[in-house]
Amino acid sequence: MTDFEIPESHPRYESLLTRHRIEEGVEKGITSQQGLIAQGRGEAYDYLLGEETIPSADEAARVAASHLLLADHPVLSVNGNVAALVPGEIVTLAEATGAAIEVNLFNRTKKRMEAIAEHLHEHGARDVKGLAADGRIPGLDHERAKVDADGIYEADVVVVPLEDGDRAEALSEMGKTEIVIDLNPLSRSAQTASVPIVDNIIRAVPNITEHARELQDVSEAERNAMIEAFDPDGALASAESQIRDGSLE
Ligand code: ATP
Repeated sequence: MTDFEIPESHPRYESLLTRHRIEEGVEKGITSQQGLIAQGRGEAYDYLLGEETIPSADEAARVAASHLLLADHPVLSVNGNVAALVPGEIVTLAEATGAAIEVNLFNRTKKRMEAIAEHLHEHGARDVKGLAADGRIPGLDHERAKVDADGIYEADVVVVPLEDGDRAEALSEMGKTEIVIDLNPLSRSAQTASVPIVDNIIRAVPNITEHARELQDVSEAERNAMIEAFDPDGALASAESQIRDGSLE
């Protein structure tokens, strides 16, 4: 980030840093041009949310941490935007929860898969899945269906940030507990999630890690109770109402 010279005191620092990272991701061959559009959509929602983690998103992040800690086979799915925005934070979350990391692209090319895996290795990831592509998600066309047999295919809990709606629905049909991070509470991905986190991935991923660390010593029964009490529709409704009715100060 050496050529990024906006001072942290700038009122739109986080948003400008985000744009800069996505731009760099495109230059490095990590992020697709479609990813730039997705970023723009996300930014608009974040602006309306007040660019902060609202209480319902914080609760969802805590429930997500509980799921990850209780899972037998948790996997974090990484696409081009995720890799550009939070590579180190994803590695830290994987370490804190024992989750695997898998590269999973909407517009899959071998070159971009490898560039992302390499980028994650540079940020400390040891094992990065996704390149074997020896499993298939039922109900999706060939390229979109590809996953690793011992990764997303086997997973009981998956974190899918910024996921395409079709794939989110197909994963949910497979019976997985799906944790979606998406700034649009109306997107199909957020709507199909067992745990929708309506927050910027830049804030959400470190927040899940922080909750996971706090929940390390909490009993399994307590974590399960937290999961039971969570209402995904309520979380979505509260984000939607913040976007529609929140005051922009
Ligand atoms: P769906 O098919 O689920 O309805 P979509 O077609 O709207 O989704 P895309 O255009 O692929 O989805 O965009 C991906 C989603 O990622 C958007 O809903 C956008 O709000 C969200 N998004 C983009 N950037 C971020 C970010 N930094 N943090 C969280 N969410 C983001």
